[in-house]
Amino acid sequence: MLKTYQYKDLTKEQIQELVNRNTDPNNAIQDTVLQIINEVKTVGDAALKSYAKQFDKVDLEKLYLGQEEIDELASTISRDQMRALEIAFQNIYKFHQTQLKRERTVETMPGVKCWREVRPIEKVGLYIPGGSAVLPSTLLMLGIPARIAGCREIVVCSPPQNNGKINGFVAYCLKLLQINKIYLVGGAQAVAAMAYGTESIPKVNKIFGPGNQFVTKAKSLIQGLTDVSIDMPAGPSEVLVIADDTCNPAFVAADLLAQAEHGIDSQSILVCTSAEIAKNVEAEVEKQLEVLPRKELAEKAIQNSYFVITENLQEAMDFSNLYAPEHLILETDEWKPLINKVLNAGSVFLGHLTPESAGDYASGTNHTLPTSGFARSYSGVSVDSFVKKITFQHISEEGLQQIGSTVEILAELEGLQAHKNAVSIRKKD
Ligand code: NAD
Repeated sequence: MLKTYQYKDLTKEQIQELVNRNTDPNNAIQDTVLQIINEVKTVGDAALKSYAKQFDKVDLEKLYLGQEEIDELASTISRDQMRALEIAFQNIYKFHQTQLKRERTVETMPGVKCWREVRPIEKVGLYIPGGSAVLPSTLLMLGIPARIAGCREIVVCSPPQNNGKINGFVAYCLKLLQINKIYLVGGAQAVAAMAYGTESIPKVNKIFGPGNQFVTKAKSLIQGLTDVSIDMPAGPSEVLVIADDTCNPAFVAADLLAQAEHGIDSQSILVCTSAEIAKNVEAEVEKQLEVLPRKELAEKAIQNSYFVITENLQEAMDFSNLYAPEHLILETDEWKPLINKVLNAGSVFLGHLTPESAGDYASGTNHTLPTSGFARSYSGVSVDSFVKKITFQHISEEGLQQIGSTVEILAELEGLQAHKNAVSIRKKD
C-alpha cells in the first residue's frame, strides 16, 4: 500500500522531490484565494455571509456570537471535558509563561547604554480551524500566548458549524481566555476580513493560526498586499517518525495515523532502519485504519505518504533534516544522542512514550507549527510571536566622548554629512 524507498538508492534529485511539498503547483488555490480576498475587501460583511452559505452551508443573520451565547454553549459540555480543557490550559500557560524574559542593559562603551523592551502587538487575529474537525485546542495554543503577551485586542474567527454556531468546547476555551466574542467566519475570507477589516470585524496587526490550503495561501498573500503580518505558513499537518528495531510498530502506526486523520493533504513519513520494521508498521497501519471513524480521510492521506529505509539512524536524521518536518518523533532507545543532530523541525517528541498527540493538546508546548519545509527557517508560535522587542539607548556626556569620533568617521566614509553633524554639533556644545 505505501510507497517505500531505499535511501541509498535515491539520487539527490529524487530526495529533493520527496521532501518537496508544493501544495499548489498550478496556482489554482492562489487564484481562488485572490478572488475571495478582493471580494471581502470591496464588499465586506455581505461577502462573508455569502461565503458562509457557499462553503459552510449556513445562512448567517449576524457574523458573531457574544458573551451570552458563548456562556450558553460552554455550559453544554461535561464536567470531565471542562476539566481536561482546564488542565491543558494550565500546562500550556505554565510552559509559555517562562518565555517572557526581561533582558539586561548592556553598556557597550562607558556611558553608552543599550537595551530591549518587550511590548505586545496591540491587535491580533486568531484563526481557529473548523472545517473537517473543530480544534478548540488551537484556540488555547493561540489565545494563551496572546494573553501572556498582553495583546489589547484579540479577534477570533472560526467557521460556523451547521447550526450557525460554534461548538461548546470552543466556547468553553473562550471563557477560559476571557474572550467575549467570536466571529463566525472561516477560510481565506476570515484572513481577508481580519487583514482589511469589515463592518463587523476589526482590522488587526497580525494574523495567527493554522488552517487548510485556502487559509494558508490567504495568509501568505495578505503579507504582500497589506501592512498586516502573519505568524508563519502553518498549513496541512505532517509528521516524520524515525524508528529503529527498538520501536513498537503499533505505536509508530498509531502516530502515523494520528497525523493522517487531519485531512487528505496531511503527510505521514516513516524513516526506519530496516525493511522488517517497515513491513511490521505497514501491517499495523492497515489494522488500525480499519476501525478509525475518519478512515476515509486517513486512507487518502496515507496515499500521500511514504516510507524511507536507511542503513542507520544518522542517515535517517540526514533525511529528516532535509524534509524539515512540522512534527518529528524519535521512536528509538537512542533518542538522547539524536537531539543535537536535529537541525530542522517544528516540534520534537522523544522516545517510545511521547506521542505527538500529547503536544497537540496538553503537555504545554505549542501545536501551531511551520509546515511544508518552513521549519527550515520558522519557529512555532510562542509568546515571542505576539510581542515586538523595541531597542532603547541612552548616551551620556562620557558616552558621547567615547563613541563620537567613531560615528563621525563612519558617517564621513559613507558620505552622509548630516549624520556626522548630528554628532559633531553635540560634541561642540
Ligand atoms: P479550516 O478551518 O482551515 O478550513 C475550512 C474553511 O475552508 C471553510 O470554512 C471554507 O471557508 C474554506 N473552504 C473549504 N473549501 C473551499 C473551497 N473549495 N474554496 C475556497 N474555500 C474553501 O479547516 P480544515 O479544512 O479542517 O483544515 C484544517 C487544517 O489545519 C488541516 O489541514 C490541518 O492539517 C491543519 N492544521 C495545521 C496545524 C499546524 O500547526 N500546522 C495545526 C492544526 C491543524
